[in-house]
Amino acid sequence: MTRRSVSILGATGSVGTSTLDLIERHPDRFEVVALTAARNVASLADAARRTNARLAVIDDEALLPELRERLAGSDCRAATGKEAMSEAAAGGADWVMAAIVGCAGLEPVMAAIRAGRTVALANKESLVTAGALMTEAAARSGAEILPVDSEHNAIFQCLAGNRSSDVAKLVLTASGGPFRTKSRDEMAAMTPEQAVAHPNWSMGAKISVDSATMMNKGLELIEAHHLFGLPSERIDILVHPQSVIHSMVEFVDGSVLAQLGSPDMRIPIAHTLAWPERMDTPAQRLDLAAIASLTFEAPDFERFPALKTARSALETGGSAPIALNAANEEAVSAFLQRRIGFLDIVGIVLETIAQTVAGRPRSIADVIDIDREARARATNLMREMAA
Ligand code: NAD
Ligand code: MG
Repeated sequence: MTRRSVSILGATGSVGTSTLDLIERHPDRFEVVALTAARNVASLADAARRTNARLAVIDDEALLPELRERLAGSDCRAATGKEAMSEAAAGGADWVMAAIVGCAGLEPVMAAIRAGRTVALANKESLVTAGALMTEAAARSGAEILPVDSEHNAIFQCLAGNRSSDVAKLVLTASGGPFRTKSRDEMAAMTPEQAVAHPNWSMGAKISVDSATMMNKGLELIEAHHLFGLPSERIDILVHPQSVIHSMVEFVDGSVLAQLGSPDMRIPIAHTLAWPERMDTPAQRLDLAAIASLTFEAPDFERFPALKTARSALETGGSAPIALNAANEEAVSAFLQRRIGFLDIVGIVLETIAQTVAGRPRSIADVIDIDREARARATNLMREMAA
């Protein structure tokens, strides 16, 4: 069997290291071409050495000399800059994991899509901001986009072998996050430490805060729309605190298919790594007798206004989801630095969208412009709040 060649964008993060874990357990099946990271030069160099990667790219150019030094004597080339990022995304590997966090991942993802790669997509922010452009580019180049986000991966698995015209609706499940049972007053006092302490999943800081506000489910709603081509009104959100059912598809005949598994990202990552085959993972097997009961609740739109905000941004389309994502990235980062309170996050997002001129991006350059302007507006709003 020929080995599948892989590259990982965002190799040092939560999804990136889970991907490396799987690849390193199966050296017979995979060979690593390129790895990238923002700043964690030690972990990047270490992974590149362990996997015999040919290219390691660090986003922070000040760290290039250190990366070179750490890779000295190996066959791995150290690089930085936009071109090197594109090379990591588009050059050489058949399969590319897009696991950069935020809109920063958009250009590398587009490079991989334009080159016709199989793209395992964790970076939901790229689909939220440029979904239509990405899916059009994939249709042109023949690139396959395989969803890594557990909900979308579950839906992808449930859809296999069915006609999309037979789908009645999608049901995105949500754990409800660490503040599922908290009042608005209690949420107002929550710290970054409390917000990142997710009850079921271990993830990067940004997505953990998104889970606490439930903006994560809002971003996933937009992500599902672009991946599966269904309108907002045919994508439901259902709170399911145990995170065992990862999402469901209801068909026109009333049948509902669900995908289940323990909450371990290595399961959906492995699904995309081996696709269209399957591979073994060390993830804990599901013991339903021990779990005993699975429960469900309707989402509370009053305590979690991010859900309505995201749904309305999806329905408005154009610049609205870009502004939503940009303001959210800025506000989450400010919250993590203790510059704003927990409830301010969604307030900043709403106000930024309200100040955004309606428009339709025609290119990735347009998306990046709208993103930049929305970030500036969100930053101004936070400055005014602090004054
Ligand atoms: P993380 O913060 O743990 O890792 C992010 C990675 O991206 C790191 O390798 C970092 O070095 C790199 N990076 C960050 N900013 C960058 C920049 N400006 N330029 C280049 N590289 C940059 O994040 P994560 O939790 O692994 O999430 C990654 C993506 O996957 C996010 O879009 C997230 O929403 C999505 N996702 C994550 C999980 C999860 O379980 N962690 C689940 C579903 C979806
Ligand atoms: Mg998810």
